[in-house]
Amino acid sequence: MIPEIPMNPTKAYSTNSATSPLAASSIPRRNPTNRDVQIEILYCGVCHSDLHYARNEWGSTQYPAVPGHEIVGRVTQVGSDVTRFRVGDLAGVGCMVDADLECPHCKKGQEQFSPSTVMTYGSPDKHLNLPTYGGYSERIVVDEHFVLNIPSNLNLAGVAPLLCAGITTYSPLRHWKVGPGKKVGIVGLGGLGHMGVKFARAFGAHVVVFSTSESKREDALQLGAHDFVISRNADEMEKHAGSFDFILDCVSADHDINEYLGMLAVDGNLTLVGAPEKPLPVASFGLIMGRKSLSGSLIGGIAETQEMLDFCGEHDITCDIEMIRMDQVNEAYERMLKSDVKYRFVIDMESLKGNPDAS
Ligand code: NAP
Ligand code: ZN
Repeated sequence: MIPEIPMNPTKAYSTNSATSPLAASSIPRRNPTNRDVQIEILYCGVCHSDLHYARNEWGSTQYPAVPGHEIVGRVTQVGSDVTRFRVGDLAGVGCMVDADLECPHCKKGQEQFSPSTVMTYGSPDKHLNLPTYGGYSERIVVDEHFVLNIPSNLNLAGVAPLLCAGITTYSPLRHWKVGPGKKVGIVGLGGLGHMGVKFARAFGAHVVVFSTSESKREDALQLGAHDFVISRNADEMEKHAGSFDFILDCVSADHDINEYLGMLAVDGNLTLVGAPEKPLPVASFGLIMGRKSLSGSLIGGIAETQEMLDFCGEHDITCDIEMIRMDQVNEAYERMLKSDVKYRFVIDMESLKGNPDAS
């Protein structure tokens, strides 16, 4: 039985079905408990996962759905046990808002793998008898453990997507020890992919982008890639066959991963972070010949997310963004589906406050 606790009506953007557009609405947020930080959201990134979720492409969406897990804002209230944040501080929230913090995964700093983890949207809320609601909203209330410190020297709107796109690429690149002397491929130059390029380059690797969009060639090199390959061009692909130590696949839609297994050197690894709606077929010989491995990676733990943000502060790394108003989010989804975003939409949440439709 979940005890009744006081709630605040909060302006948000939500959808009620897989086929309806997002629109202004009101959601309940709890008043901060002793452990909570309340944050006024200033910017929220638009991740492709938001679109998969809003449209129920993973089959588990609960409506009304409020996406958004690339959140930065200002602290407006803290509970009595909170020690790391004060009213007025900048703060970030990514894909997770709660977990037991006691299981072996949490103890290892890998909260993302704990069965108890509450995701920022679409998980059963521990406090309210509702699903969690994400960052397309004016404020959020989060257990202090899941609130991140924001480096003060970075552009705040460009920091927001680091909370998902940043950590999701940083974590596997670190795990697979990408660095000097390694040849690394990044597949799909979208929100995740462009951060993968920035991190792989900052870690000292030789970086090659695989893309379907010729229009992104110049940008890829500007972002730090050493080479750019149009994946639909067999001649360009052939030149790199069998040569990669590591490939990070950031593609959101159906595509042939066997082509990329063919790009790996002996003992090379292909890690999927992209989460398309449909399963991707794998030819076993693509792995057997060359002892190659195929794996996945899910965001990153809280300590590693802080490490990533601090690294970005030290190396002056932010996301390349296109700022939008809240009421442009449906159009942004359509553009994202056409791979037409350079390289992350970020919502200026001030535009939600001014929205007369939200109550
Ligand atoms: P995004 O900005 O839309 O980028 C996806 C990119 O994939 C596009 O820019 C495009 O790059 C490429 N692409 C799109 N359709 C394609 C197709 N039919 N064939 C080949 N390439 C195609 O998306 P995102 O926000 O970076 O997210 C990417 C994926 O990662 C999504 O599925 C998302 O749900 C998932 N994700 C996973 C995690 C995790 O923890 N594992 C975290 C966040 C997101 P080019 O134009 O260069 O071809
Ligand atoms: Zn995301």
